[in-house]
Amino acid sequence: MVTRFIRPKNLSQKMMRVIFSIYLGVTLLITSMQFLTEYMKTQDSILNELKQLEETIRGPISTSLWQYNQNQVNSLIAGILKLPIIQGVDIFDKDGKNTIYERIYSPASAPLSIFATTSDLKWSLNGESVLLGSLVLYSSSEVILDRVLFGFSLMAITEIIKLSVLFWLFVWAFDRYLATPLKELMSQVNEVQMNQDVSKRINLSNMEYNELIELQNHMNSMLSAIEKNRERLLEDEQAKRSWLEDAVAKRTEELQISNEKLEKLAKNDSLTGILNRGSFFEAARHLLILCKRQKSPASFILMDLDNFKMVNDTYGHFSGDKVLVHFADTIHDLLRESDLFGRLGGEEFGIFLSDTGMDEAFHLADKLRKAISHATIEVDGKTITYTVSIGIESSELEDYSIDELFKRADLKLYGAKEKGRDYVER
Ligand code: GH3
Ligand code: MG
Ligand code: MG
Repeated sequence: MVTRFIRPKNLSQKMMRVIFSIYLGVTLLITSMQFLTEYMKTQDSILNELKQLEETIRGPISTSLWQYNQNQVNSLIAGILKLPIIQGVDIFDKDGKNTIYERIYSPASAPLSIFATTSDLKWSLNGESVLLGSLVLYSSSEVILDRVLFGFSLMAITEIIKLSVLFWLFVWAFDRYLATPLKELMSQVNEVQMNQDVSKRINLSNMEYNELIELQNHMNSMLSAIEKNRERLLEDEQAKRSWLEDAVAKRTEELQISNEKLEKLAKNDSLTGILNRGSFFEAARHLLILCKRQKSPASFILMDLDNFKMVNDTYGHFSGDKVLVHFADTIHDLLRESDLFGRLGGEEFGIFLSDTGMDEAFHLADKLRKAISHATIEVDGKTITYTVSIGIESSELEDYSIDELFKRADLKLYGAKEKGRDYVER
């Protein structure tokens, strides 16, 4: 209990220590002052008692002295010494000589303070007063303390009992109304903090309306504000995320389109829009492998516009471009979906036909040649006509590679040019 008082761990005991230390200090001060006053009062009353005693015994002692009755004097003195307030008695003769000296304490253990009353011993003879000597009665601080301490010990015992009972009652009251609710508040706040759960609310049990409930309400308002803020942040984050997802999806789509465009640009000829040389040969190489695997024929048609330099020279380069576009469009329209068509460079074009033998290829090539030679183009009010020479090679005759097919078709094309142009050489 003492250690708990000196080093209290709980709030109510700490508060009680402060309150009771103050109370104890004030009580001690007041009690010391009371004790001092009581001491002085008791000393006065003992002095009065001594004086009264003197008045009572002065007569008998004076009579005994006048009659020289020493035995009576001695028995009177012995009687006086038995009184609890008396610590000693002295009798002096008229010359001041000490005739009786009695002390109830030994000289070694003399009391702290000794006080005395002195009165003259007289005998009245024929109306005249004769001085016989003087009587001194002694009392001491011990007598006073005996009286005072008893009362004060009673007071101290009742005070200690009162203090102890009050201390524990106050501790209980502080615990009940302050420390316990505070502890509950702390544990609930701690729970919110540990779980990071701001949707939780603090709810103190068995509480009347007081400052703690106000604190609880303030904390709950704070938690609500934090919760709302967190929800808003979450919503913001969600909105930002979906915006970001949309932006990424849009960007991906744009990139896809750009990639497709780039791929098309890389694969296709920018002027005519048909396959360029690289992608034409790559696709033709694959198709030829497939045809070989399926043991089916394939044909290569190589076309070169006739006297194209002259077309350029006569109508201008721009018109020459228009002719190239016209040629590509015309041929494209006459081909099947599965036929491969590409610009191999300048005014030279190629067609790769899967599952097609020489006869069928020739038939198609001649149809194309005729379509071109019959066609007319209007550019800047001028009518342009042109022709095409064609060389054909087919893989059904030999096991050619795509390069060999091309080389052989080129030889045939050279032959067609030799034969006067606007001609199909097979
Ligand atoms: P041939 O009948 O022997 O084939 O004669 P040609 O004049 O067609 O042959 P040549 O190879 O001498 O000339 C081809 C010309 O094609 C030369 C070049 O200026 C032209 N040419 C090549 N590419 C383009 C192009 O993209 N646009 C235009 N306008 N002309 C081109
Ligand atoms: Mg040429
Ligand atoms: Mg040419």
